[in-house]
Amino acid sequence: MQFVPALLPSLIKAIDNVIETNAEEVTALDQAIGDGDHVTNLQRGIKALTAQSGELAQLDWVAAWQKIGMTMMTAVGGASGSLYGTLFVAMSKAARSRPVVSGVERPLDLQAFAEVFGSGVDAVKQRGKADAGEKTMLDVLIPVAASLRQAALDGVALPEVLRNISRVAIAGMESTKDMLATKGRASFLEERSRGHIDAGAKTSQLMICALVSVLAEHLTAPS
Ligand SMILES: [Mg+2]
Repeated sequence: MQFVPALLPSLIKAIDNVIETNAEEVTALDQAIGDGDHVTNLQRGIKALTAQSGELAQLDWVAAWQKIGMTMMTAVGGASGSLYGTLFVAMSKAARSRPVVSGVERPLDLQAFAEVFGSGVDAVKQRGKADAGEKTMLDVLIPVAASLRQAALDGVALPEVLRNISRVAIAGMESTKDMLATKGRASFLEERSRGHIDAGAKTSQLMICALVSVLAEHLTAPS
């Protein structure tokens, strides 16, 4: 069993669905402490990825993540576009620097993915000059990266890894509710930013949980 870029069209479709389903709820969160455009911006990126999904499926991970990163950067725009762009471009770069096992395929096992995703999240921290606890998408991404690293070290079986990722992403998203925003527009609200979940953390969690569902289904599907 391998996770290959041929899965990208179904992964992108799942993300499209989950953001569409939750669009109203997330926009309400964003209107409470932001400018309410997060979902629209994100959907512009997802639409661009959907248009490229056939092409993405033909690439290897290094090229696919690079292309996804560039598309997110240009199509989403603004702070989220730059942060998602950075995430995927840095993942591509990290994957490129890994030794190629065969000339054709770069096997993506849990350990490799944990390293690659961790590099991507570190790049987002640098780019956003932010860390955990600042009421952003990083409150989801950082614990998910840590959970992946730990699972790789402990040799946890994939179905359990996927369940853990969902659990950790939801806990991270919920943790932003009581945080004080120090980044972005929400930071102008100071104490009034408390009591609202961060919209960017919410969409990160929704997308991660949607990806996990597709991968879990793929794991159990007869090959
Ligand atoms: Mg905004």
